[in-house]
Amino acid sequence: MSDILLELAGLQRSFTQGDVTIDVLRGIDAHLKRGEIVALLGPSGSGKSTMLQAVGLLEGGFGGIIRIDGEDVTRFDQGKRTKTRREKIGFVYQFHHLLPDFTAIENVVLPQLIRGAGQAEAEERAADLLGRLGLAERLHHKPSKLSGGEQQRVAVARALANRPLLVLADEPTGNLDEATADRVFDQFVKLVRDHGSAALVATHNERLAAKMDRVLRLHEGRVEA
Ligand code: ADP
Ligand code: MG
Repeated sequence: MSDILLELAGLQRSFTQGDVTIDVLRGIDAHLKRGEIVALLGPSGSGKSTMLQAVGLLEGGFGGIIRIDGEDVTRFDQGKRTKTRREKIGFVYQFHHLLPDFTAIENVVLPQLIRGAGQAEAEERAADLLGRLGLAERLHHKPSKLSGGEQQRVAVARALANRPLLVLADEPTGNLDEATADRVFDQFVKLVRDHGSAALVATHNERLAAKMDRVLRLHEGRVEA
């Protein structure tokens, strides 16, 4: 088994609107090792979210090659993309995207059930994850009854629920105040490390980037050396 978990070769993406085409990703070459936590740093509009959508197999229309866990996933059909996403990838977004009518624990149980886990096992795991994030007293609260930082921590637990090899986080603390962002991010890093997952974290925040193992800088559609 190679120690490279994710490999991008010549990743390209352009968007055309009317008669204007912008080349957002102009040939990204990058890799992540297993267990590595890497910042994807770049100003707003530099293509961070576009790159995470490609790696997360959420969007098509990309050029180049994406390899995950030794497999070339570039030309996977929809079914295989969904399977790979469910089995290997967890997502955390800037806005938590929790299901509003489900409690915290239900939000973390659900992805496990989709993946085929039993109810009791899924609940035990969800309670454990949420407990480790300091939410033991909040298991049965709906998102609207939680603070922003608590909601983001539920989203972190949900992302890790299926023990993904790779966590993709897009500005995971972007809507939190600085102190809360730091606390939530430190817990995120600890949990990801405990799991041995790798993470690619898009951020425009240099301070958060400095907490990670390595930084990939997006500039003019490429990753700077
Ligand atoms: P970042 O996440 O670094 O802020 P994005 O990946 O969201 O950057 O966007 C990079 C560029 O691609 C921006 O100029 C944005 O307007 C453009 N873009 C992103 N998604 C689309 C889309 N679906 N259609 C057209 N343009 C898009
Ligand atoms: Mg973005």
